[in-house]
Amino acid sequence: MPGRLHTTVRSAPFSLYVHCGFMRRMARRIDTYLKRLVSEEKFDFYSVVRDFADAEISPRILDWERDHTLVPDDAIAKMGELGLFGLPIEERYGGQGGDHTDLVLMGLALGYWSHSVAITPGAALSLGAKPLQLSGTEEQKQAHLPALARGERMFVFGLTEPGRGSDAANPQVTAKKNASGWVINGEKCWSTNAKWASHVIVHALTDPDGRNGRRSTCLIAPMDAPGVHYQEMSGKRVWEQSSTGSIVFDNVQVAADSLLGEEHNGFKVMATTLNGGRLFIAALAVASIAFALDKCSTYAEEREQFGAPIGRFQRVQDVIVDLDIAVERGTTWLMDLCGRFDKGTLSRESAAKCKVDCSQVASDLLVQAMEVCGGVSCLDEFGLIRHHNDLFVTRVGEGSNYALRDLIVRPLRS
Ligand SMILES: Cc1cc2nc3c(=O)[nH]c(=O)nc-3n(C[C@H](O)[C@H](O)[C@H](O)COP(=O)(O)OP(=O)(O)OC[C@H]3O[C@@H](n4cnc5c(N)ncnc54)[C@H](O)[C@@H]3O)c2cc1C
Repeated sequence: MPGRLHTTVRSAPFSLYVHCGFMRRMARRIDTYLKRLVSEEKFDFYSVVRDFADAEISPRILDWERDHTLVPDDAIAKMGELGLFGLPIEERYGGQGGDHTDLVLMGLALGYWSHSVAITPGAALSLGAKPLQLSGTEEQKQAHLPALARGERMFVFGLTEPGRGSDAANPQVTAKKNASGWVINGEKCWSTNAKWASHVIVHALTDPDGRNGRRSTCLIAPMDAPGVHYQEMSGKRVWEQSSTGSIVFDNVQVAADSLLGEEHNGFKVMATTLNGGRLFIAALAVASIAFALDKCSTYAEEREQFGAPIGRFQRVQDVIVDLDIAVERGTTWLMDLCGRFDKGTLSRESAAKCKVDCSQVASDLLVQAMEVCGGVSCLDEFGLIRHHNDLFVTRVGEGSNYALRDLIVRPLRS
C-alpha cells in the first residue's frame, strides 16, 4: 500500500470528528480479527474510516431514516475529503493507490452503521470506476479517473433492466452504430448512485445474432446527454439512504470513443467487474454480523430476566457464538479473496460463493440476534432492524443468490 493513501486519509479527517465524541466508541469484536489479518498500515486506515463513521454517520443515520432522505451532500463531501472516492484508483490518475482490501475495509467500517452510506462510495468505485480501470483505454482513464477520484464525477453501473435481471447477458437496451458513434435506446433500472451520477456505463445489445455472451457492448453515456431521463425509484424500503434510479435512453447519441472494452464483448466487462463488487457486498453482510454481535453481547449482559442477565441462557450464548464465528470466518475469507482479486487470480465461482454464503448467513443470524434482544429489536433506534432489512439486498444484489448457485455448480458437474 503506497504511503500516500494513509497520509491523505490521516491528515484530512481528524478535524471532522473530534467534536462528535468518537472517543466513546463501543469496543468492536471485528477489530480483533482485522488486526490479526491485515498490516498495521491497513488497520490504521480501517480505524480512520471507522472513527469517521462513528462521528459522522452513527449520530445522524436515524434522522436520515426517519426523514426518508438520501445520504446528504455534506456527508458525501466529507467522504470525498477523506479520499474515499479515490481509494483504489491508481495514484497516477490522482487516486489513493489503494487496493481491493482497502475498499472492503471501507465497506466493513461504514457498513457497520449503514449499508446505504457504505454503498455510495462502494458502488462508485467497485461498479463505477472499476470497469474503466479494468477495460478503459488510456485516454478514457485520463479523461475520467482523476475527476472520479476527487469525487467530482460518479459513474453508475447500468446492467439491470426492467425485463433483464439475472439474464443480464441478453440486454433489451440496444445500441446501434451510426456515423457519429452509437445511438442508445431502452431503460436501465436499480442503478445505484443514479442521483449523483455524471455518467452511466450502459450494457447494450449490439449483435443480436452473436453467440451467448458476445451480443452486447458497454458504452459510457453522460447523464446530461439529450434523451437521458433519470428518475429516483420510489417505494424502496431497503438501503433507504442510497440513491437507486431508473434511467431511460431515448435515442441517445454517444461518440464512437464511448466504447468501453471490446465491441460485442460487453458482458465480459460487466462480469469481471462484478467479481470485485460481490466481495464488497459480502463485506456489507459481514459488517451487519459484526454490528449484531456487539449489540447482542452487550445487551445479553445488561438485560435481566428471572433475576439475572439473559446471557446466562445457553440458547442466547449459542447465537452470540454463531455471530462471533461468522465474523471471524467472514473477515478471514474476505481478506484472502481480496488478495486474490488484486493479483487477478480470483475466480468468478470463489467471489460468488463468498457473496452467497456471507449474505445468507448474515440474514439468518440477524433474525436470531433480533430474537435475543426481543421487542427492543423492532425499534429503529436499536439499529438491528436496519441491518435486517438492508441484508436482503445482499442476497439479490450483484447476482441473486439462487442464480449464482448455477454459476457455482458448473465446475462441480462433469
Ligand atoms: C437496492 C438495489 C441496488 C441495485 N443496484 C444495481 C446497480 O447499481 N446496477 C445494476 O445493474 N443493478 C443493480 N441492482 C439489480 C440487481 O443486481 C438485481 O436485482 C439482481 O441481479 C436480480 O435481478 P432481478 O431483481 O431482476 O431478479 P430476477 O432475475 O427476475 O430473478 C428473480 C428470482 O428468480 C430466481 N432466479 C432467476 N434466475 C435464476 C437462475 N438462473 N437460477 C435459479 N433461480 C433464478 C431467483 O430467485 C431470483 O432472485 C440493484 C438491486 C437492488 C435491490
